[in-house]
Amino acid sequence: MRSNERECIARWEHAFEADPAEKEKYYLTVAYPYPSGAMHVGHGRTYIIPDVVARYQRMRGKAVLFPMAFHVTGTPVIGISKRIASGDEKTIGLYRDLYRVPQDILDRLINPMEIVRYFSEEYRRTMQRSGLSIDWRRQFITVDPRYSKFIEWQYDHLYEDGHVVKGAHPVKYCPQCENPVGDHDLLEGDKAEIVKFTLVVFRWGDARVPCATLRPETIYGVTNLWVNPATTYVRAMIDGEEWIVSPEAAGKLALQDHDVLVTEKIPGAVLVDQTVSHPFSGDVPVLPATFVDPDMGTGIVMSVPAHAPFDYIALRDLQQQGKYTSIQPVPLISVDGYGEIPAKDAVERAGILDQNDPAMEALTQEIYNAEFSRGKVFEKYGGKAVREARDDVAALMMEHYDSVPMYDFDNHNVICRCGGRVFVKILHDQWFLEYSDPIWKEQVKTQLEEMALIPSEVRAEFNRTVDWLKEWACTRRVGLGTKLPWDPAWIVEPLSDSTIYMAYYTIAHHLKAIPPESLTPDVFDYIFFGKGSPGTIEQKVLDRIRAEFLYWYPYDHRFSAKDLISNHLTFQLFHHRAIFPPELQPKGMVVFGMGLLNGAKMSSSKGNVYLLEDALEEFGADTVRMFLVGSAEPWQDFDWRNELVSSTRKQIERFWNTVQEIRQAEGAYAIDVWLASRLQRRIRKTMRAFDSFQTRQALQEAFFGVESDLRWYRRRLPEGERGGAVLQDLCRTWVRLLAPIIPFTCEALWSDLGENGLVSFAPWPEVDGIRINPEVELAEEFLSRTVEDIESIVKLIPMEPAAINLFIAPAWKHEVFQIIAASTDRTRVVREVMQNEGLRKRSREAADATKQITKLILKLPPELVKQLQATPLDERAILEEARQFLEHEFGVPITIQDAGESTHPKASGALPFKPAIVIE
Ligand SMILES: [Zn+2]
Repeated sequence: MRSNERECIARWEHAFEADPAEKEKYYLTVAYPYPSGAMHVGHGRTYIIPDVVARYQRMRGKAVLFPMAFHVTGTPVIGISKRIASGDEKTIGLYRDLYRVPQDILDRLINPMEIVRYFSEEYRRTMQRSGLSIDWRRQFITVDPRYSKFIEWQYDHLYEDGHVVKGAHPVKYCPQCENPVGDHDLLEGDKAEIVKFTLVVFRWGDARVPCATLRPETIYGVTNLWVNPATTYVRAMIDGEEWIVSPEAAGKLALQDHDVLVTEKIPGAVLVDQTVSHPFSGDVPVLPATFVDPDMGTGIVMSVPAHAPFDYIALRDLQQQGKYTSIQPVPLISVDGYGEIPAKDAVERAGILDQNDPAMEALTQEIYNAEFSRGKVFEKYGGKAVREARDDVAALMMEHYDSVPMYDFDNHNVICRCGGRVFVKILHDQWFLEYSDPIWKEQVKTQLEEMALIPSEVRAEFNRTVDWLKEWACTRRVGLGTKLPWDPAWIVEPLSDSTIYMAYYTIAHHLKAIPPESLTPDVFDYIFFGKGSPGTIEQKVLDRIRAEFLYWYPYDHRFSAKDLISNHLTFQLFHHRAIFPPELQPKGMVVFGMGLLNGAKMSSSKGNVYLLEDALEEFGADTVRMFLVGSAEPWQDFDWRNELVSSTRKQIERFWNTVQEIRQAEGAYAIDVWLASRLQRRIRKTMRAFDSFQTRQALQEAFFGVESDLRWYRRRLPEGERGGAVLQDLCRTWVRLLAPIIPFTCEALWSDLGENGLVSFAPWPEVDGIRINPEVELAEEFLSRTVEDIESIVKLIPMEPAAINLFIAPAWKHEVFQIIAASTDRTRVVREVMQNEGLRKRSREAADATKQITKLILKLPPELVKQLQATPLDERAILEEARQFLEHEFGVPITIQDAGESTHPKASGALPFKPAIVIE
């Protein structure tokens, strides 16, 4: 570690401990990490960007709370320690080689709590090295007995209010672990959703042949079934009836409240060409199709070629071989935009060749959506909209025609962390959070409307999540965590015990002094609601704790990655609504993009990660911070590339050297006024960017913006001069503007500038309105644009210039400029210009100038045009004053003339704010 980093970390150790104070507060939180492995640079960004915000708000004079804890609930660490204990090479390799756990510690990781201890310490150390301004007094882990008391209190309330209910619901389940599994417990398939299919039951003699479908209404258009002749089916007694299904389906149905006994195997080929029947479709044949997956649904598929592109093309493929040519698609739904047989239309329009075409999936979805949103079934089948007919037909089949539901994943590759396959199981006697409750949903939606959501695009996703959330299995039989207070055979699972802990942070350090057994539900009722008078704790202490909670709560912003919208970020809103009163509801959320490493998704399990500690070691903390802030806005995805990070380090060195060079500058120069004025604007723009969480934009202004101003300033100084006392002030401002982003460098510079105390707590620079001088800025803008124009011409001409002539536009062109700038309709400007008598006399000349000036105005920033409208420039005076500078810049004599008084053919090209340039 660099010595300056070590020194800062020591100075900061207790500096960010935040207590209630007589000033405005700002409370931000980030999802606490699960310490089962080392932090990588993606994690780094998740915490560094909030830290930048925390540091900014602190300098703005607020009391800022930025706490941290560790989430260890559930089975992941148990699974890891089991795998290490059993000698699993992949796991041991990950911990030994990627996370570089020393052998003696690795041996101890067979105890899950050792994993928690080792990595939470490692996290804390790495977070400190990253410069995170955290109040560590509040740190806890989620299996701390005091935290458990808090969770018990929370669940007692949820239970009393009817938000936790016992019932039977389909959940993700790992038979190997004999446990329901949440997204945290999965190696693969964490986005998989449970889908409810209807089994449409055909008869084959006495046997039932069920087909799983999402579109039961299409039964009227079934022309055949598909079976895979290359696979083996089973005959099974299911709930006392004889069924034919794939062996996979028999296994799945056994987990879904069916009594399943497999009696016999049946090769798929035996089923081919048999006839089956359903009251709604009549007799239909069974056809062979290798695309049928025995692991999807029942492994037997009903075919509706008129409305399912897959069925249409599979049938066409067979018919092109001369088979089953008498079968015709049977349409039953009409939908705008498609002909009589929508599947045929879609397949032909898309130019699909055969069933292996990759475009088939999208096409299937397209027809599904079109028919669901605007399709109608034919009059003879009831004439209803598809969305209604679907439910009606399903209900009818359930009631009278043997149909039952079957659950499966939309993407069936769901793997538990134990390595076993995950299935859908109907759990009984399981406790569920009733997120399906429409009243609860409505409360959350109302809350969302009140909240600041950044970026605004995520609002729709939150609303969608609230809509589709169903009952959530909130307890497990095994794993670390808090026991359900009224049914202690169950443990609250990880996504359900991490929903209101932001409130716990506000009091965590006080609770450490209280024995867990004293933390009765009454105590929390008092702290959070001000209700009752618990006798277990002194009133004075309780009042202080409650006051601290009320000082910080509600939290101002929660920061998290966008993949948590569909669970954690929405869950926490439900729980806040259920537990806390309206005035203590969350105020805002900032949702982050994802991290890439050299263009590929970061993933610890796939080894595609770069450890944060390695990055800190190689580049230094400020470089890592500045790169992560500068590579993208928080909500955008970002890509870590070592070669780009190196150039960030050079930028920080340049900043350091510049401040060292100029911090003692003295004297005064004409251009000082301009620099001071620009600096005020940079302060304002940096603040605006920080206030809207555009941390990248803030860096652009505070770093590159100031740097480019400085470059122009130095260029404008008389030869050999290094700048005036204005630079001392600039240094003090510049270091503070960058302190939230590169605090290590800025602390050191702050001392070098002779300032006492930490820059982390220095007041944010105020915009000094008196120093803003728009006229001077405008004049310099004119000059610098003229310089750029000359430079680009010099580059184009082959000869060495001997002299440069500048021609200034005549007064009448300025008049034209004013007319165009004021015009609201750019298509009418020529007419408007010609209304002016003086200009009309110039006829063709004025018309040409109008065109050129219109073009120029469109290119200039609107802000600048507005300024030119208000304060016309004395271009000649500006150029005359800068003549020495220009001659020095280009090393040749400069002449400045009025274009109107020159006969040079190019002089007529002079425009307002854009002199004509002639190089000799
Ligand atoms: Zn498992």
